[in-house]
Amino acid sequence: MKLAIDGGTPVRTEPWPSWPPPLDAAQRALVTSVLESGRWGATQDGSACADLVAAFARRSGVEHGVAVGNATLGLFAALRGLGVGPGDEVIVPAYTFVATATAVLLAGATPVIVDVDAADLHLSPPAVEAALTPRTAAIVPVHLAGSPADMDALNTIAARHALAVVEDAAQAHGAAYRGRPVGGLGDAGVYSFQSSKAMTAGEGGLIVCRSPKVHEAVWSACNVGRTLNGAWYGHPRVGWNLRLTEIQAALLLPWLDRLDDEIDRRNAFAAALDRELAALGPAAGRGGGATRPPSDGGVDGVTVVPQPPGTTRDSRHLLMLRIRTPFERPSLLAAMAAEGVPLDAGYPPLGTMPALIEAGARAEPCPSAEAAAHEVFWVRQPMLMDDPSSAAHIADALAKVLASPPLLRSLP
Ligand SMILES: *Cc1c(COP(=O)(O)O)cnc(C)c1O
Repeated sequence: MKLAIDGGTPVRTEPWPSWPPPLDAAQRALVTSVLESGRWGATQDGSACADLVAAFARRSGVEHGVAVGNATLGLFAALRGLGVGPGDEVIVPAYTFVATATAVLLAGATPVIVDVDAADLHLSPPAVEAALTPRTAAIVPVHLAGSPADMDALNTIAARHALAVVEDAAQAHGAAYRGRPVGGLGDAGVYSFQSSKAMTAGEGGLIVCRSPKVHEAVWSACNVGRTLNGAWYGHPRVGWNLRLTEIQAALLLPWLDRLDDEIDRRNAFAAALDRELAALGPAAGRGGGATRPPSDGGVDGVTVVPQPPGTTRDSRHLLMLRIRTPFERPSLLAAMAAEGVPLDAGYPPLGTMPALIEAGARAEPCPSAEAAAHEVFWVRQPMLMDDPSSAAHIADALAKVLASPPLLRSLP
């Protein structure tokens, strides 16, 4: 079959769903009412931010929360509220968005970049154990792609060494670990509402925490050093204005009513893709057991990256595919995009970013994150929001493209 990049017919021609989804009636009503109220900032008796914080804290199984301008600042404020600062080392996974590490730098601490599990790509507890020093003050597990990190193992290490745990839940609104919601599994949890995330107001973030003391310190960091119920111009701590606006909260609050349905939808798509990939495998494709005619090549060597142990609710922010086959990465991406199935190249390992190392980050050996940078591709959230029948397009395009390795090798 002629590849689309070589003038053939693309597997998929319809566009994928766009992100964010269209405003719903509840968002429209709440945003309008906030706009008409003139109370656009959260310090002016507005209630949307307060309601959003209460809802997120409840859903995370904790008492407290603070809404912030974005998750980078949220991670910074959480670390600061937990007393992490200059001289401290903070362990972050090597396979994550760069902000997990730059938030540590913002707090004045040293990011220690630690390898991820070879299979599930989440922070590896044994690698954390190996990276501990007397200066280690905190661990920032990332609930990557919407599946929770192995929090029992990480919390055990943290408890043994008196470390703070800040969950980076930027990709995991609504996810659960052993039946318990993320965000409430460590000392603090941080969500993001940036444009690409599962709930978005263009930008935004939210910190949840269990301890009233941590809450007071985090709130103060986000409110120019004030104390809760203290004087307006009383600033016993050093702090900043890191607040979310009421208009953003008004976009987010009604979203919580449909978040679970959207997660179900993405999980249904992921399950369908798993089935399609299996059906197109060499055994099924040639043995006659496939539900559709076998394609040219089958999708041998393509697997869905598994969830860490303990995932009971995957919010499916992304679906990660590991593709073990001899091809050039840019060529595969270009050929897939031409077939109408754009995949994402995913993260370079943090330890390979010179800016982080020059800023003082320390990188442990990270072979699993480096392998992921070669082998792992993402199916992004908007595609996962499509009808599950569209999963066949992804499997078919992979089968078609991977059946042409000689061509792929010759592409620019
Ligand atoms: C998006 C993201 C962040 C940063 O969130 P912002 O709201 O853009 O600051 C941090 N960590 C992870 C894992 C993310 O995906």
